[in-house]
Amino acid sequence: MSGDRAVELAADIDARLPQTQCTRCGYAGCAPYAAAIAAGEAEIDRCPPGGVATIAALAQLLGRAPLPLNPACGAEGPPRVAVIDEARCIGCAKCLAPCPVDAIVGAPKHLHAVLEERCTGCELCLPPCPVDCIVMQPAPPSHRNRPELNRARTAAHRARTAALAAERAREIAAKKALAGRTVATPVDGGSPR
Ligand code: SF4
Ligand code: SF4
Ligand code: SF4
Repeated sequence: MSGDRAVELAADIDARLPQTQCTRCGYAGCAPYAAAIAAGEAEIDRCPPGGVATIAALAQLLGRAPLPLNPACGAEGPPRVAVIDEARCIGCAKCLAPCPVDAIVGAPKHLHAVLEERCTGCELCLPPCPVDCIVMQPAPPSHRNRPELNRARTAAHRARTAALAAERAREIAAKKALAGRTVATPVDGGSPR
């Protein structure tokens, strides 16, 4: 398969994945898993959030027989959403960056809350919480996973995270440069000898 065709196929596969970025497939997100399937390195049975429907869609796209969901990746279940116990939240903000769809609102030292309609149930916010005050609960009947919205929100989240990291790197570099100049400048203000 040519490189262009592999990229196209990976995009077609990715378009059929739920875009929760939950990593349960064993890859860093939906796109890396799609690339692995396109490259023939992964089977189509590794996405619990998509479950039977996603496997069927991938099987149809690739002209293969469907497979049962690989239990090593988890089980397909009813949709769930994260809820923060506000009585226990300490406002540390450690749950904000891991949420790929920016479903958590709050600021440092303030209570945080989950925007239920945005939450994909990926559970990536659970491990970073130091007081275990985020719990998963059944999603309301009206809740729908929206892969295209998830994709756009993840792209915005990553762009913002990258911009913040670049800004931080610039600040650190500027501080180091300033510290270097301070060391090189003599106390009497004359030229360094
Ligand atoms: S939604 Fe499916 S494909 Fe995407 S990261 Fe989760 S398990 Fe992997
Ligand atoms: S709030 Fe938690 S479970 Fe919901 S999408 Fe964000 S990281 Fe995933
Ligand atoms: S990580 Fe837990 S304690 Fe910290 S802000 Fe988020 S929910 Fe609150």
